[in-house]
Amino acid sequence: MAKITLDNLAHSYLPAPKTEDDFALKELNHDWTDGEAYALLGASGCGKSTLLNIISGLLIPSQGRVLFDDKDVTTAPTADRNIAQVFQFPVVYDTMTVRENLAFPLKNRGMDAAEIKRLVQKVGAMIDMESQLDRKARGLTADAKQKISLGRGMVREDVNALLFDEPLTVIDPHMKWELRTQLKKLHSDFGHTMIYVTHDQTEALTFADKVVVMHDGRVVQIGTPQELFERPAHTFVGYFIGSPGMNLFDAEIDGTQAKIAGTTVDLGGAYVAAGKTQIGVRPEFIRLGSNGAGIPATIKRIEDVGRHRIVRLDVAGTEISAIAAEGEAVASDTNCITFAPEGVNVYVNDWRIAASGEGAS
Ligand code: ADP
Ligand code: MG
Repeated sequence: MAKITLDNLAHSYLPAPKTEDDFALKELNHDWTDGEAYALLGASGCGKSTLLNIISGLLIPSQGRVLFDDKDVTTAPTADRNIAQVFQFPVVYDTMTVRENLAFPLKNRGMDAAEIKRLVQKVGAMIDMESQLDRKARGLTADAKQKISLGRGMVREDVNALLFDEPLTVIDPHMKWELRTQLKKLHSDFGHTMIYVTHDQTEALTFADKVVVMHDGRVVQIGTPQELFERPAHTFVGYFIGSPGMNLFDAEIDGTQAKIAGTTVDLGGAYVAAGKTQIGVRPEFIRLGSNGAGIPATIKRIEDVGRHRIVRLDVAGTEISAIAAEGEAVASDTNCITFAPEGVNVYVNDWRIAASGEGAS
């Protein structure tokens, strides 16, 4: 297992990149702590696979270095990095049996037959294919083949890191949950450094200790699920994580107060803001009122989503969302909203700024 360091790393697929826009991966410095389980989360095309492939050695970065336990591996071939990578679509040897496919990485490293048998049996159970170990991979469904790919990624216990690139895409929903549980168990049993790429926030938040959120080639925040929820560092994190995502209100800020849609709101702290200023408040922290004491709002509709209701409101022509907890009444004469103070975040040009005196976050 290893700590993985990204030092001044950036990548462009163009031969002579000029502007920042030419980079699929913008400059990045980061240590992936040894033994931690990370999710790399972001929309399609934001650079997740580019980053993963640089770590695994499938891609040589156009700038910067990759270090495994402080050893420079930037140009080292994948085989020398001692990692396992599982891709979005299955990579299996059709002419081999399931067992031979799973044993392949172990045989390659000269492991003795008894040990191979034990590990293959174990991983066969983890992917729920014990009864199919001796059949050929040819003719299996895409779903089953992807389970073999996953198993091959999980079978070695001595890897520096395990990299997963949207590995459950072709797996059926029920099995997804089961396999994710197995991956988590694998992590708690062996403590591998794991990086799990996904565009699905639920997958990211349930799998990882730390979530690395990418947007447009840039890492915008690295944090625990709770940090991403409570203190989104970038408006993208606010919007992408949470269901529904964070509301954003255009605002003018003057010290401890903000003006939103003509109403003055107390911020509970002093801010110095220059640039495009917005207040971000998650739906969980919007309070509804009927006495006019707040930002004017009208209810457009109420959606019952089981555990709670989502109230959609109009605020100065923009739709915003509030969450009403189970059992909480939603007054039909609702005419304004206020913010729970602990749920207020201030953004300038999409980046969160701290109140003066607030600890760095
Ligand atoms: P993700 O995995 O988050 O969907 P990728 O890392 O695959 O994103 O892609 C990031 C950006 O780089 C995208 O704009 C994509 O079109 C571009 N890109 C990816 N692979 C290549 C390539 N081999 N050549 C040129 N551009 C690429
Ligand atoms: Mg990808």
